[in-house]
Amino acid sequence: MVYRNVLKWPNELLTEISHEVTTFDDSLQTLVNDMFDTLNVELGAGIAAPQIGVQKRVILLKCDSFDYENCDPYEKDPSILVAVNPVLELSDERRVWQEVCLSVPLVKGTVSRFRDAYMTYQDMHGNKKKLRTGWPLSGALQHECDHLDGILFLDRMPRKESLKAKREIFGFLQKQAKLLKKNNKKEKASSRCLQIKTKKNKTPKKFGKLKKKKK
Ligand SMILES: [Zn+2]
Repeated sequence: MVYRNVLKWPNELLTEISHEVTTFDDSLQTLVNDMFDTLNVELGAGIAAPQIGVQKRVILLKCDSFDYENCDPYEKDPSILVAVNPVLELSDERRVWQEVCLSVPLVKGTVSRFRDAYMTYQDMHGNKKKLRTGWPLSGALQHECDHLDGILFLDRMPRKESLKAKREIFGFLQKQAKLLKKNNKKEKASSRCLQIKTKKNKTPKKFGKLKKKKK
């Protein structure tokens, strides 16, 4: 199992546009496996390749989480839909719901999405596929496909709410950084104590030698 670190906002790699997959080889299989393992460790419902730092147009969705019976099951888990180079056509009608994201710690965001989606994509072997789906899987597909264009749900929220959420996350990340710095200082201090203790232990031996010389 390979867990890959999930990038968090405001990491700039999350704002990049991902490249189309043109080679359907072992490296794509490895990428999908790593995304699958990471999704399971993080207990997520969906993940896009750029979230683990790979700028390729690949998404994974756990269909069970959206009450959708998957018609294109992934070999390791029938609930997982793997879509390579997904392209969405969306209906006019909209729905509003709350979203969370593995790359956006702490906050939920109210986001408006299109109700129905028609997705064309390729599977891991390059076969062309299509999927017509309604709410809520359509909303999840829009969230994951947004990642491929460097867009987070924070960018889809009303401006004021988005700024408030960003301030909250930023404050949380700063606290985490301070805590990490404090812990590092403690570790350094305790290693200095160890060095001093080692030196003290050596000192009596030197005195012993000096006494012997005087005799
Ligand atoms: Zn996300």
